[in-house]
Amino acid sequence: MEFSLDTLVILFLSSGMLLIFLLWSYYDRRDCRLYDRQRISHVYYCVRCGHLYESKDPSEVCDCPKCSFRNGRLRF
Ligand SMILES: [Zn+2]
Repeated sequence: MEFSLDTLVILFLSSGMLLIFLLWSYYDRRDCRLYDRQRISHVYYCVRCGHLYESKDPSEVCDCPKCSFRNGRLRF
């Protein structure tokens, strides 16, 4: 079984492009998962002291870091 030079060049370039695509896809998905965890936070506004703060905790209420008043999460 013999391949022509054109077929070998096409196979070589296609395998290189496939490898680059697979690496790009893997690292893109990995970065999305990593940065989504860091980026997701919830915003709270204290009705007692007016302090705006955030928390990584996904609960509906969070204590204010300044006055410890329990506030509900802001919804946009
Ligand atoms: Zn407060």
